[in-house]
Formats: sequence, structure tokens, C-alpha cells
Amino acid sequence: PSVPTVTLNSGHTIPQLGFGVFLVPPDEAEKAVSEALEVGYRHIDTAAIYRNEEGVGAAIAKSGIPRDELFVTTKLWNDRQSGEQPHDAIRESLDKLGLDHVDLYLTHWPAPEQDQYTNAWAKLVEIRDAGLARSIGVSNHLPEHLDRIVADTGVVPAVDQIELHPAYQQRDVLAWADANGTKIEAWGPLGQGKYPLFEKQAVVDAAAAHGVTPAQAVLRWHLQRGFIVFPKSSRKERMVENFDLFGFELTADEVAAIDALDTGDGSGRVSAHPSEVN
Ligand code: NAD
Repeated sequence: PSVPTVTLNSGHTIPQLGFGVFLVPPDEAEKAVSEALEVGYRHIDTAAIYRNEEGVGAAIAKSGIPRDELFVTTKLWNDRQSGEQPHDAIRESLDKLGLDHVDLYLTHWPAPEQDQYTNAWAKLVEIRDAGLARSIGVSNHLPEHLDRIVADTGVVPAVDQIELHPAYQQRDVLAWADANGTKIEAWGPLGQGKYPLFEKQAVVDAAAAHGVTPAQAVLRWHLQRGFIVFPKSSRKERMVENFDLFGFELTADEVAAIDALDTGDGSGRVSAHPSEVN
């Protein structure tokens, strides 16, 4: 079975399952992405700050896979939000990737102390209109940030890429996204290995019922909730495992039991809060 797609507000589609390269060192990125493409991944999530766009680009070039079969996302780093800098930043990213456009370009964090994320968003709209990004969106934006960029430009982000896993579901952001037609991309879908998700009874039970691993049960939960995910692993056997999600389906009860792992008070968060990153 093939990877389902999600239709974005731009009219373009995105494969719901991809491969993320956060913390893949620059000199290992080409190998990791080449292996991911061999496994079957066609959606790659990188960022300027990951410093591995060249490796991603090299793997894409060597793969010979037609450009229109690939979905590539990169992100604007926080120090390039002001003035015309986003235009320079996307050109640099495209040079490194060896591409003439990305499929999705995101403002990486709102960095509210700088108060430049509204400028960044207005520039992303220009970048899209210039054809350098097919779709544009944001990452780590909370409802207050989303409201502001939409009020400013009238343009609704195609996605908001946020930390999201069963223990940390950010329901306020999900409600905003639902109401506005923005799709949710879940980063840290496995809790980055920092939250004991794989020991939770609901996950253990669902995995056992379907003869899959806890990681597969959690990733399947994301897919059935409609989230876009791109788990990261440098190990090929895990790339294969994380891609093998289409031979089983969680029951409604299993989904509900995993839903109930949300701590509800934000204590399931494993990484930085948007107000902390500048
Ligand atoms: P993740 O939840 O995908 O966790 C990755 C870690 O989980 C791996 O390092 C590995 O230790 C473990 N793992 C992976 N597959 C496993 C398996 N099958 N069984 C057991 N353990 C397994 O976290 P992530 O890499 O932080 O998030 C995924 C992607 O999201 C990133 O690569 C990146 O593309 C993106 N991301 C974006 C932001 C942002 O601010 N926008 C922040 C972090 C990550």
C-alpha cells in the first residue's frame, strides 16, 4: 500500500509520512537520505539550521527520482526573519538543495522576542508568489501567533509544524488549525525518545494486538488522527519499520486509549516551548 496524501490549502498534496533529518550530521545526511529514498520515503523534512541541506540535495540528485515525485520542506531560521532576509535565505537553501523550488517553506519559530515573525510570513507569501515554494507554512506557532500573521496578510498557513505526540497534543493549536484549514505536522512524533511513550499500556496493548512495535503503533495513531509525520532515524532497519504502517489499522478504541495519554497540562512536552526560542 502506498503512502496517503493530504491536500493543503494551496491545492498541492503532501505525503502524510516522510523522513526528518533533524540532528543528522551534515556528513551523514546524504547517506541517510539515500537510504530513506531506497526504503520508499518521498517526503524529506529539513531546515537551514540543520546544516544538512547539501547532503539532502546530493541524495536527491543521485537518486534519479523525478522531482515531481518528491516533496521537500525546508525552514527559515530565526536570525533571517527581518527585512528582505527571507529572500536571501530561501535562495541559499535552494542552492544547497540543488533545487529550483521547495514544496514547502516554513518560518521555523515565531521567536516572539524579536517580533519579526509577521514580516517573515509576509516575505514567505512573496516567496510563494515568486514560485520558489509551492506551499508555505509555519512551525511552532501558537494561536496568538497564527491569529496575528493571518490578520496581517490574509494568508492562512498551509501547515503548522509543532511538537506533538500522544503525551503532548497541543489541543489549542489543533482547534485553531481545524477551524482554519491548516494541516498539522507533528514533530517529535515519537517524543524524541525522551518520553516513555513505548511503555504506556495503551501503546503496548495496541502494538501487541496488531503484532507491530510500539513505535509503529504511535506512528499509526498519528496517521489516523490526520497528522503529517516524518520520524527520524539514522538506522536503516528503523527507517523500514517506521515506513511499514499500512498493513494494519488501529481500532477506534485503541486510538481513543492513546488519545487519553495526553497529560493535558503541557507536562508531556519534551523540547523547547515557542516562547523560549529566539
Ligand atoms: P522523533 O520523535 O522522530 O524521534 C527520533 C528518535 O526516536 C530517533 O533519534 C531514535 O532515537 C528514536 N526512534 C526512531 N525510530 C524509532 C523506532 N522505530 N523505535 C524506537 N526508537 C525510534 O523526533 P525528531 O527527530 O525530533 O522529529 C522528527 C522530525 O521532526 C525531525 O527529524 C525534524 O525533521 C522535525 N523537527 C522539527 C522541529 C521544529 O522545530 N520544527 C523540531 C524537532 C524536529
